[in-house]
Formats: sequence, C-alpha cells, structure tokens
Amino acid sequence: IDAPGAGPITVKRGSVEFNNVTFGYLPERLILKNVTFSVPAGKTIALVGPTGSGKSTIIRLLFRFYDVETGSIIIDGQNIKTVSQESLRRSIGVVPQDTVLFNNTIKYNIKYGRLSATDADVIEAARGAEIHDKILQFPECYDTQVGERGLRLSGGEKQRVAIARTLLKAPSIILLDEATSALDTQTERNIQESLTRMCANRTTIIVAHRLSTIIHADEILVLQEGEIVERGRHDHL
Ligand code: ATP
Ligand code: MG
Repeated sequence: IDAPGAGPITVKRGSVEFNNVTFGYLPERLILKNVTFSVPAGKTIALVGPTGSGKSTIIRLLFRFYDVETGSIIIDGQNIKTVSQESLRRSIGVVPQDTVLFNNTIKYNIKYGRLSATDADVIEAARGAEIHDKILQFPECYDTQVGERGLRLSGGEKQRVAIARTLLKAPSIILLDEATSALDTQTERNIQESLTRMCANRTTIIVAHRLSTIIHADEILVLQEGEIVERGRHDHL
C-alpha cells in the first residue's frame, strides 16, 4: 500500500506529531476524533484512558497498520504516508502488550533479523532488559528453544525479551503497549528499570497502566471515546 516511488524515511531525532487525526476502522464508526499532539524528540508521553478509548489504535497508526485519510502523522517532518512502510517499521521499536515469541532459540528471538549482532551485543541487550540471569538458568542458555513448542516464558519474561530486542535495535522511537497483567512488585520494579533505561533519550509513546510509568512521563494524554479530554503532567492532572 506504499505510494508509488515511496522512499525510505529518515529518522534522526524522532519527533512525532499527530495533526487532527480522525480515524475509524469502519467508515461508520469513528475511533479517533481530531487527535492532535506532539512529542518532542527524546520525550515520553503516556496514553491513558478506559478500555476501547483508542490508545492502541494510536500505536497501530504510527506503525502504519492503517493509513489515515483525515489529518496527518509526521515523524521528523515527514508524513509517514509518503515513505515506505518497511523503512518506517525498521526505524521504530515496538514492545507489544502480549509478545508472541517465535518457535526458535532465545538468541534468535532477541536478534530477530539483526544478523550482524554479535553474541556480546545480544548479552548486553539481555542484561539491559533484566533477562540475562534468567536465560543463564535455561537448559541451553541462549540456545534454548522458546515459544509454543519450546520453553514457555511468563508474560513478564516475554515482555523483557521484547525489551531486549528493542534495545538491540536501538531505534529513535519506541512504542510501548504496557501489559495489563499483574506482576509481582520485584518483577515490576525490574521491568520498570529496564524500560526507563530503554526509553531514556528516545522518543517514547507508552500506553500506560502503571502509576509508576505515568509519573515518569513528560506529558500524559487522557483519551475518552477517541478524543483527548485532558493533557498535562502527572502533578497537574
Ligand atoms: P484497551 O485498553 O482495552 O487496550 P484501547 O484504548 O487500546 O483499549 P483500541 O484497541 O484502540 O482501544 O480500540 C478502540 C476501539 O476500536 C474499540 O472499540 C475496538 O473495538 C475498536 N477496534 C479495534 N480494532 C479494531 C478492528 N481491527 N476493527 C474494528 N474495530 C476495531
Ligand atoms: Mg489497547
């Protein structure tokens, strides 16, 4: 669905803008209504709001699962509709709510396409995501098969694999759909630390469920039925 001749995007610092974006999956039902916000390069915004309010839709539009017809999404001055989807996705790191691992080794899952990454790079990323020590306990360490047909990891462990993958990718922009599942406090603290490390100095858009995430955001957008009804910092809302 790329426009003819769509070239690669040039993402440098990674500023993100939504300008009057109106979107519906079906024409008769609008999911986002006139959504406008901007994230300066290197800053973090948190999206909060009730279920169905459109938070994940914003993430999907940025990753260009769908194109917007009304309004525009701009990254570093470029309308994402005009660049190739593949280059856009190469430039953005995503940590989804429910990470699905490939039926392959843990190493493969962290590298995921970055064939030039060395074992040392993989270990560094795993350390950053607080998952290295866990991996060393697996029967074949980094060569252990994981996924449906291998070792099953918990939700929190899978998310940390996705964080390691994103650390290795080192994108300027990170999209994070925070898991809603309850985690024990120690795991939550570990994940929070790895997330903070991952997002430092990167433009980050987080669908936030945890208060600790919300407190750390530079700005919070409150969505309700597809509209931004409030915005500001934690201490102002
Ligand atoms: P949650 O907190 O439950 O994850 P959310 O704020 O992320 O909710 P979205 O996933 O953005 O909500 O969904 C917003 C609305 O769009 C919902 O009413 C949902 O039913 C609808 N929706 C989501 N995906 C599709 C789709 N592929 N086709 C049609 N409608 C969809
Ligand atoms: Mg969602």
